[in-house]
Amino acid sequence: MLENLLFPEIKETPDNIIAKYPKRNSDLVVTRMAPSPTWFLHIWAVYSTILDTIVAKKNNWVVFLRIEDTDQKREIEWAAEKFVDIFKIFGLNFDEGPVWENYADIGNYWPYTQSKREYIYKVFIKDLVEKGLAYPCFLTEEEISETRAIQEASKVPTGIYNEYSPWRFASIDDVKQALIEKKEFVIRLRSTWEITKKIDVKDIIKWTVSTQENFLDIVICKKSWIPTYHFAHLIDDYLMWTTHVIRWDEWFASLPLHLELFKTMWWNSPKYAHYWPLVKIDWDAKRKLSKRKDKEADVEFYFSEWYLFESIIDFLSNIINAWFEDWRKQNLTASFLDFDFKLERVNTSGALVDIDKLNWVNSNIIKNIDTNLLYDKLISYFEKYDTDFLNIISKFTLDYNLKVLNELKTKIRKFNEFKDNSIFFYNDSKIPSKDLLINTKMKIDSIDTVKKWIEISIKLLESTKNDFSSIEEVKEAFVAKIIEAEMKNWQVLWPVRCALSWEEFSPGALEMVYILWLEKSIFRLKNVLSSLV
Ligand code: GLU
Repeated sequence: MLENLLFPEIKETPDNIIAKYPKRNSDLVVTRMAPSPTWFLHIWAVYSTILDTIVAKKNNWVVFLRIEDTDQKREIEWAAEKFVDIFKIFGLNFDEGPVWENYADIGNYWPYTQSKREYIYKVFIKDLVEKGLAYPCFLTEEEISETRAIQEASKVPTGIYNEYSPWRFASIDDVKQALIEKKEFVIRLRSTWEITKKIDVKDIIKWTVSTQENFLDIVICKKSWIPTYHFAHLIDDYLMWTTHVIRWDEWFASLPLHLELFKTMWWNSPKYAHYWPLVKIDWDAKRKLSKRKDKEADVEFYFSEWYLFESIIDFLSNIINAWFEDWRKQNLTASFLDFDFKLERVNTSGALVDIDKLNWVNSNIIKNIDTNLLYDKLISYFEKYDTDFLNIISKFTLDYNLKVLNELKTKIRKFNEFKDNSIFFYNDSKIPSKDLLINTKMKIDSIDTVKKWIEISIKLLESTKNDFSSIEEVKEAFVAKIIEAEMKNWQVLWPVRCALSWEEFSPGALEMVYILWLEKSIFRLKNVLSSLV
């Protein structure tokens, strides 16, 4: 028969394959992330995985990773491995998938990479051919183009279906002859749905949408014997017991086809949730984030800008449900998974990727993390991106570095701003220009005034026995002197601050003294004083 002619090597039946996979509990919610390694990691993949994870977690916690590499022409080397690494970096852990050491599979439903499942797909395709639900089609590219031209001229929908598909009606002898002639062929679904009919498609995010039924005899197996994504993902979702398919809106148009395929197989379809694409504002209008045009589409951008992984997660969680932000304020250290996400209320007005907002989220997280913990994170970033600066700060004591970070954590938005904002804590030898020290607006109009206050400050610090244990203590000491001299705080503190930091912008004089401590402060002030002679 036809199926044996096409698939002589396949001896197993779908039942044999299904029996190999263990049943899952019926109350389990199973979601999956199914990226194709045809692109580098787009930020939506992280967004999508968060959605998968939160839905699974709310229920019974199975989320797996499947690599969908059926489009081998467009495949990028190492992209699949990179996905796995990056998801791990974000702490998005899959229960199953190629996520073990050396990208080995874990889980009972392996292999989790489609190119390793070719045999399985063939068993199901053979079965469909045997049942007359799929057929080989030997149309050439030219013949398909001719068909399209005819359809366009007669204003009917284009594609291969019904009377426009000659091989739908071919006899077994026609097929035999074509095989003898070594003609190339694909396998098409024999669609039974109708061109004129509409179906109601249910979607958790979009609710119910009335749409055109599939009527096309779509290709389920390509000339290369590789199944198409439409077919392969469906078999996998069935065998792996996926209960919720959460994916971006682009796939919504294919849903009638997927539903027909499920019906053809006599299988129940999973629940679907198609979320809106991530967008950005471009010239006052919202548009889809583009892999080609927008740097913020690429996950690497977020790494190169030194954003904290937890900030990126929070930022995306906020896009999912806008009230996440309020919850976070009350739950500063909780895992994002503790938030009660509502999939049915996922942002539908275009999920806006706004980098200013991300900066805000990142700065809040930096501000709120315990300084010791933050320091470890900071060091790990410098280890990765700037070992020269790491070598510099490593020469200072941990206490000192922690004080610097503690001061700066409320001022920087991202770790890559730490270096510029802290450099003056790590270099003792610079001298500020006279122009900086004199500030007529602050009524410091002569070098003599500058010198006077630097001298007084040196004396004050030299008479202090122990290092200050808080900024308040420094303040008390200085303010007492300033009151005594009947001066204004800023008149005194400006030259002292500039002498200590030698920059126009830096933490205040009192903060500088507290962080630098007595010895360093005195050393710097004396240095500046001697330069003013
Ligand atoms: N492999 C598809 C993609 O990368 C995923 C589609 C799905 O989740 O069903 O877009």
